Amino acid sequence: MELMQEYIDEAEKALLHTYNRYQIVFEKGEGVYLYDLNGKKYLDFCAGIAVFALGYKNEAYNQALKNQIDKVIHTSNYYYNVPAVEAAKKLQQVSGMDRVFFTNSGAEAVEGAIKAARKYGYLKDGRTDHEIIAMEHSFHGRTMGALSITGNPKYREAFQPMIGNIRFATLNDFDSVLKQVTDKTCAIIFETVQGEGGIYPVTEEFIHQVKQLCEKRDILLILDEIQCGMGRTGSMFAWQRYGVKPDIMTTAKALGCGVPVGAFLMTEKVAQNSLVPGDHGTTYGGNPLAAAAINKVLDLFEENHIIENVNAVSKYLEKRLDELVEKYDFIETRRGCGLMQGLVFTCPVAPYIQKALDAGLVLINAGANIIRFIPPLIINEGHVDEMIAILDSCFQQQ
Ligand SMILES: *Cc1c(COP(=O)(O)O)cnc(C)c1O
Repeated sequence: MELMQEYIDEAEKALLHTYNRYQIVFEKGEGVYLYDLNGKKYLDFCAGIAVFALGYKNEAYNQALKNQIDKVIHTSNYYYNVPAVEAAKKLQQVSGMDRVFFTNSGAEAVEGAIKAARKYGYLKDGRTDHEIIAMEHSFHGRTMGALSITGNPKYREAFQPMIGNIRFATLNDFDSVLKQVTDKTCAIIFETVQGEGGIYPVTEEFIHQVKQLCEKRDILLILDEIQCGMGRTGSMFAWQRYGVKPDIMTTAKALGCGVPVGAFLMTEKVAQNSLVPGDHGTTYGGNPLAAAAINKVLDLFEENHIIENVNAVSKYLEKRLDELVEKYDFIETRRGCGLMQGLVFTCPVAPYIQKALDAGLVLINAGANIIRFIPPLIINEGHVDEMIAILDSCFQQQ
């Protein structure tokens, strides 16, 4: 305990206090387990916030990174590099999108998507006052553009003014979108499954209605797949389950499985009518090391049948979570799809998450009353049973 507490005390003196962290220092991981400095083992149903899809200490992934480190880590976007070309081709293939821009994070991908949409609008009608419609309870990141379209006033308040000309509608309420559409609307953006905001999947009806509206009015549909994409909901990207293709999409989190990467992708139509040389850039985005990670992740998704596993094991996870809903009065319902699930409580979940951590299970919330389940995509039914047993005992303890 001593050593861990020492690091925690030092961290609180050196790091900016922007998180109320759990009092744990993780040292290493293997498969779906993490180990803290005291050697205590934790079953991980958080995966570094939907990042570590392939599990920790994946030999093939680690080796690919080591190989690339020994060749070259960074060269800049003034030149081409092989891993970025290969990663972009693979992303085209799995997404059906035409053009890729690599970034360092999700928020940066969202920023690029916003710029592409505004430029598209600008080239169309020359206006410089275009509007973007985003959704309440959405989460798109912490940088100013991404924050401006994040539908959580608490996150925005102290940082006003936002980028401007953003209007908010309600997810799955098409009329609320129609009310916000004007001649100036250049894009509508939402997460295909809202993550932070409480695990709300978009409905078939809503996404099709919005898509139709976008086609009719030449408005760009931007889907944020940063959390719900990369196999998490049982298809490579969540929108593929609805058969509604966006004009622009963002991805990050599991795209690099731990190496900080992101990307925004677009159709050829948007690519030909938006960003050109000089409009947008990044020093690191798509550098050889980052791209090698994406490359290997996409290979391993295929070789290890990751999406098939998500579809198989998520049915079992749903069943076991539904049993908890039945058993405990203070659990209202379960929501989600694939390995992106939420249990909705009638009370704050923080005490339960703390109890679970003490018992060796890593979980996170999505809002005050929802426990979020976003495990590595390699889990099996045994891991689900192990998780449920720990959680069940935490619920009984109260
Ligand atoms: C995490 C997340 C982001 C922001 O990604 P960062 O890499 O933290 O900048 C944006 N959108 C969604 C849906 C996310 O879950």
